[in-house]
Amino acid sequence: MRHRALNVRHYGDLTSSEVTEAVEGATLVWAIGGLEQHGPHLPLSVDRDIPQAMGAEIAAATDGLLLPALPVSARSLPQSGGGLHFPGTVYLRGTSMINAVADCLTALARLRPGRLIVVNGHYENEGLLFEAIDGCRPTETFPGTEILAFSWWSLAQDSWVAEHLPEFPGWHAEHAGITETSLMMYLRPDVVRPERPGHDTPPMAGVYVHPLDVQRMSNDGVLSSTAGASAELGERLFWHVVDGACDMVRSGYGVRRA
Ligand SMILES: [Zn+2]
Repeated sequence: MRHRALNVRHYGDLTSSEVTEAVEGATLVWAIGGLEQHGPHLPLSVDRDIPQAMGAEIAAATDGLLLPALPVSARSLPQSGGGLHFPGTVYLRGTSMINAVADCLTALARLRPGRLIVVNGHYENEGLLFEAIDGCRPTETFPGTEILAFSWWSLAQDSWVAEHLPEFPGWHAEHAGITETSLMMYLRPDVVRPERPGHDTPPMAGVYVHPLDVQRMSNDGVLSSTAGASAELGERLFWHVVDGACDMVRSGYGVRRA
């Protein structure tokens, strides 16, 4: 069993008089979360808890600083998050999401970090998040900063998915399904309830319907199967993604380096 990092440095623990020196040229890690229904067995904070835990490991491995996660997210949609038919979801509309992320980035840019790593945990955030970053015109706003932003599931390799998730329905439908359930069983078993509802007919990606038959689209807010979920599977997936992220940071992926 691999141990989680104990030596994570938190941006929020710094004082104003310390932060300029601590951040200039350093790595900042920011998890973009969500507050969204995840069926009857998982808490509302899943989409924040998972990227924040991954971000903590990435920060520890890169000698970076971990920012507080953005706790809310873009609008939940029926084919990928269950939508707003279930209580508890708190969201920003797309334009607000772009503006909120861009405002935070603009403030952080003044501290001139050397690298910014953004880890997304909510499916509907992705396009808006990338637009917010790109819309900041990073060449001008972050002239000396490498930026790597990704949704955590993007780093799950196809071969890993084929080996561990034979019935995989696609990431859009992995909402409160086997991967999020397993990750939460590993990371926060105290808040995972004993029920394991599944949904045999996961929704198709890239389709919007109205008016929606909520009963057909999900099972109590769960979009796909939870069968086989375990803390062990969650642990494997967690470190697969974290290791992939750290490799990407070290290699620079597509980042132009002198
Ligand atoms: Zn989720």
